[in-house]
Amino acid sequence: MSAPPTVSTVLSFEDARHTVEQHAAQLSPRGMETVDLLAAEGRVLAESVVADRNIPPFPRSTRDGYAVRSEDLSHLPAHLEVIAEIRAGENSENLPELIAPGQTASIMTGAPVPPGADAVVMVEYTSVQGSTVEITRGVAPGENFVPTGAEAKQGATLIERGTRLAEASIALAASAGNSLLLVHQKPRVALLTTGDEIVDIDARPGPTQIRNSNSYSLAVQVRKACGEPVLLPIAPDEPRQLRVLIEEGLRSDLLLMTGGVSMGRYDLVEQVLSEMHAEFFFTGAKIQPGRPVVFGRVAPETGSEPCKYFFGLPGNPVSTMVTFELFARPLLEALAGMSPRPLRFVYARLKTEIRVKPGLKRFLPANLTGEFEDAQVELVPWQGSGDIAATARANCYAVIAADRELISAGEMIPILPR
Ligand code: AMP
Ligand code: MG
Repeated sequence: MSAPPTVSTVLSFEDARHTVEQHAAQLSPRGMETVDLLAAEGRVLAESVVADRNIPPFPRSTRDGYAVRSEDLSHLPAHLEVIAEIRAGENSENLPELIAPGQTASIMTGAPVPPGADAVVMVEYTSVQGSTVEITRGVAPGENFVPTGAEAKQGATLIERGTRLAEASIALAASAGNSLLLVHQKPRVALLTTGDEIVDIDARPGPTQIRNSNSYSLAVQVRKACGEPVLLPIAPDEPRQLRVLIEEGLRSDLLLMTGGVSMGRYDLVEQVLSEMHAEFFFTGAKIQPGRPVVFGRVAPETGSEPCKYFFGLPGNPVSTMVTFELFARPLLEALAGMSPRPLRFVYARLKTEIRVKPGLKRFLPANLTGEFEDAQVELVPWQGSGDIAATARANCYAVIAADRELISAGEMIPILPR
């Protein structure tokens, strides 16, 4: 085999992540489509959503009570003349033109505060006596209502293009009268699993065969990252057939391979990609699990298609999941049109000490437990990066810096939720 040799480039976790982010920043998303508001949940907005009117459109009372001139309450108890009742949705013709000194209007939550009034007193501090009300508490100007346009001015951008839509942004789009939204098309992500021992889940596995689980964890992760998974047939550890399937995978927007990237004699992914004159940005990262992760770009042989990015994810199932989250996700999100976002960790108190060999940044399956503010994190016992059962019992990854050897119980440590 006359493959050009692949230069091995093993980066720190941070450098590998930055490398992916730099490439992701250059990507342009696929086309756009218009979808119903509810179908836009989880999709990436392709146009900005603008306020069609002020929010709120009128000074909105946040309490049931009385709309007052706050200076009328400087001596307590105050007695004010009730000149109107203002309900939520009250016809504007029925609104009092002005609350004059010594006057008030009874007002409901969500109703417009009339001119002249500069605050609302809660009904709890009032008692009605005929056409007057006695008020026993003062209010500061501006209290208990939201001024017109305080949440957003008419014409202002409510939701930026590139936002992944969730309940709050969908509600905001609804409040601005959008029953349809323009979103980015989902990138197609080819999933190619490799290995002579791997069989389809419907096949009866021989004694030394393993069912393909990576294509399924990846399909879920791809969907969660706004992509459309395309499952390819399993590739054997044989260069010619592997190459045919890689070519097929390169018809998608992104190719994710699993397995065949370690140092074994039949780990052929890098060799085949080298033969195709791929460009490798890294061929390993100093992490556990997932050290042999590969990231690169290659020109498909067919037609005039542009270069496509690929990841060679290690075949061990936990490594596959972790390396997708750390490296493939930002690239996929960029293809999906999402604005870049940094990888964020949250901190939790370690329950039981951890001892590791330094040198690799570790992302170990762990469980966050405890109630309310008393969260604690503990590693899930596992048999290493092939242990999907342990990972399925975990709800996060505990992150251990590459220079640490002993992390004591009680220390606050970063975790990556999943
Ligand atoms: P490799 O990266 O090819 O050396 O594979 C590492 C380990 O992951 C081996 O034990 C493989 O059997 C296992 N493995 C590889 N691909 C898959 C897959 N698609 N589903 C489940 N296990 C896999
Ligand atoms: Mg293999």
